Amino acid sequence: MTEVASVSMAKMFVNGEWIDAGSGETTDVISPFDGSVVESVPRASAEDTRAAIRAAEDALPEWADTSPDQRATLLLAGVELVKQQSKELAKVLSAEQGKPVFEAMGEIHHFLHGLTFYAGLASKIRGSQVPLPPDMGKHSYGMVLKRPVGVCGAIVPWNFPITLMGTKIGPALIAGNTVIVKPASSTPLTTLKIIGLLNEAGIPAGVLNCVTGPGREVGEELLSNPTVRRIAFTGESGTGRRVMEIAGPQFKRITLELGGSDPMIVMPDADLRKAVTGALIGRFWNTGQACLAVKRLYLHEDVHDEFVEALIKKVKNYELGDPSTRPEKPRQRMGPLHTAGQREEIEEQLADAVGKGAQVLCGGKRPDDPALAKGHFFEPAVVTNVTHDCRLVQDEVFGPVLPVFKVKDLDEAIALGNDNQYGLGSSIWTQNLAWTHQAIRELQAGVTWVNQIHYGYDELPFGGVKASGIGHEHGPEAVEYYLETKGAVIGGLA
Ligand code: NDP
Repeated sequence: MTEVASVSMAKMFVNGEWIDAGSGETTDVISPFDGSVVESVPRASAEDTRAAIRAAEDALPEWADTSPDQRATLLLAGVELVKQQSKELAKVLSAEQGKPVFEAMGEIHHFLHGLTFYAGLASKIRGSQVPLPPDMGKHSYGMVLKRPVGVCGAIVPWNFPITLMGTKIGPALIAGNTVIVKPASSTPLTTLKIIGLLNEAGIPAGVLNCVTGPGREVGEELLSNPTVRRIAFTGESGTGRRVMEIAGPQFKRITLELGGSDPMIVMPDADLRKAVTGALIGRFWNTGQACLAVKRLYLHEDVHDEFVEALIKKVKNYELGDPSTRPEKPRQRMGPLHTAGQREEIEEQLADAVGKGAQVLCGGKRPDDPALAKGHFFEPAVVTNVTHDCRLVQDEVFGPVLPVFKVKDLDEAIALGNDNQYGLGSSIWTQNLAWTHQAIRELQAGVTWVNQIHYGYDELPFGGVKASGIGHEHGPEAVEYYLETKGAVIGGLA
């Protein structure tokens, strides 16, 4: 078996082979922790992408004809290989993305769980049969067939590069499609290693490819090339618009998993200890760089002060530092933001709020420690007195800053929660059934969690409304997006 360390990382994976870009050009992958070059990868062009699309097209008929059981067996063999190397892979993910190793480990486990879930669904895909009226012929019946869509493009962002690849390739592959993965330019390394391992497990050449290169070239070739029939995109809402502009006129099957600004509501009867943990993980996991994240906190006036006090105490436990190490308990590691641009944007959003009267209760600045000067670190912040028209509320805030609001009742919390262009996740913390149902009914979001942290379960469909996207990933529902439904009419044979 190939050791992870021996896989050549200066190559991408197309048609069962590790290859360079046609031009020989490469892109450096930079550590968010200290600015060093972690590794370099090929900088593919549109022509390189077309070669990968041709390979995926050539591999399609045989893969579509492969039995679902066999597809699942190969996927599960790949899961085993990845599992055996998960510790090493987590270190690579941490190095390129900046997240602490234990968070990277969690991401790889989530990916493996997702692929295993979809492998289990491979043999459950089925069509149906319906008797037809006899007017056109006695004993006629209709069949509904489910067939693969064809060549699929999977465009993945940098914040959770592995799980968000898994939510695309899992349903695509078990449904008999072939795939080209386009990772974010800043996080291609773990992706390449995992795609190599899945191929090593026996997935035929050309079925699962990975092309590394800029979104504007590689991504847009996937969007515009007519052979690619399905685009699964996760990224910013602005890029999502571009995806629609290019792929939409070709009537491709498109799903868009975009930005979010999830409200979390805490009612007076909530278990405050659990709710504080929910807010903490919901906002500060992955240094706050999550689509699905508690980005606005609405606290009932009866529990507001107690909650904020407990929350700040926990936030102060975070210790910024090297993502490959762990601090002494109760300190918790928080890694750097992924890029300098990310940090600048957070600073601007926070400055906008402060300019409008907001008060920063903790954190909210670059750390003074010179040992951290090369990384994009930012102290996690809790902010109060925030007006609802400022960027901290209306933008997507992709970093560790949490605005907190005091509300008098659930109606006010829901109205404020919905006062935003996004509609990805949302949560309510209460024991009251009427409040629970009202929140589920009225919050404009793809998912509402009740007394639970914002986590994307593989078992449950996940997708946004409003500017958060179109369509779903996760759950058995995701498989439908990778299938064409065809009708057939069988006339009476007698
Ligand atoms: P981007 O939209 O910048 O990039 C996402 C992917 O799209 C990258 O692979 C990027 O490539 C590629 N891309 C960029 N431009 C184009 C283009 N013109 N055509 C085709 N592909 C292109 O998003 P980020 O990487 O910054 O990711 C963060 C965003 O993702 C946040 O808004 C977050 O909320 C959202 N997200 C949504 C989730 C959801 O499920 N709803 C889950 C996780 C994140 P390159 O890197 O080369 O530019």
